[in-house]
Amino acid sequence: MERSGNHCEMRIKRFAYWFTGLAIVVIIWKLCLIESSVDNLQSIRKILDFHKDQLELTQQQLVFLENLAKKKSAGGLPTIYAVTPTYWRHVQKAELTRISQTLRLVPNVHWIVVEDSETKTDLVRNLIAESGLVVTHLHAKTPPFEQLKDKDPRWKRHRGVEQRNAALKWLRSNLQVNKNNGIVYFMDDDNTYNVKVFEEMAKVKKVGVWPVGLVGGLNAETPILDEKSGKVKGYKSGWKADRPFAIDMAGFAINLDLILKSEASFSYKMEKGYQESEFLSYFIKKEELEPLADNCTKVYVWHTRTEKPVVNGVVPGLEV
Ligand code: UDP
Ligand code: MN
Repeated sequence: MERSGNHCEMRIKRFAYWFTGLAIVVIIWKLCLIESSVDNLQSIRKILDFHKDQLELTQQQLVFLENLAKKKSAGGLPTIYAVTPTYWRHVQKAELTRISQTLRLVPNVHWIVVEDSETKTDLVRNLIAESGLVVTHLHAKTPPFEQLKDKDPRWKRHRGVEQRNAALKWLRSNLQVNKNNGIVYFMDDDNTYNVKVFEEMAKVKKVGVWPVGLVGGLNAETPILDEKSGKVKGYKSGWKADRPFAIDMAGFAINLDLILKSEASFSYKMEKGYQESEFLSYFIKKEELEPLADNCTKVYVWHTRTEKPVVNGVVPGLEV
């Protein structure tokens, strides 16, 4: 009796060993499967990321073709290369929505959006895809030592230097002198633009200038014209009006060929508030500036600034 009891116990034990062994094998096999599907998913993700850029390009080529047709009907206007540096903060999407929708009203614009980031972000990518505009999407990160800190006053650092230079580099490597009839305009993401400013800049031969509202400590900053010659003889500005060119970034546009023929760029070494003045000095003398906007009597662009909102929480799943 005892013998057969032992025998039975051994059989159960053996069965238990077999069963455990089998279960372990099955578990390991399943884990391997899961691991390989995670690997697969990761490589699919990499491929998708890669195709995102290609998709963006293809989509842009389509928009470009569509716009080519529109441009013909726009009567051979020069292409306006509008350069917009932009960086992430809670108001970024709102700012870019506002200016991209203004640009929808401009038939001859090629928008160059340069993100201040390590890589292009989906937020900007999607906004561009929805905009229906001809866009070149770039990124160039401001080096950490030049980055504006949260508590720094804005004037403490140069802003948009890296990004505008990246756009200049793109223009110089992708366009040719005397081939592309174009105008370059530095269009910050937070200003307010009347579409008329784009109509004005289509008249630019070398460098066109006009007043800018809400800047330089006055209701508007403007070139002062000589009554007799109609040429620029000075500037009205509440801040260093004696700068060689006391003009805000939004107050001038330059012929593309001049940009392509030069190596002019922006620099962190420039004195604060002198980016525009030093940049323009590469190209032109004050007397050669072309006053636009009804001899500088109209304001078609405002240097508005968006208040930083108080954001104490983030609603999940809502991109704002
Ligand atoms: N900008 C940027 N990175 C920054 C700060 C600003 O790319 O760290 C961009 C910003 O989006 C804008 C331009 O640079 O298009 C000028 O910046 P901002 O409007 O703050 O300067 P301000 O109007 O005071 O000269
Ligand atoms: Mn601004």
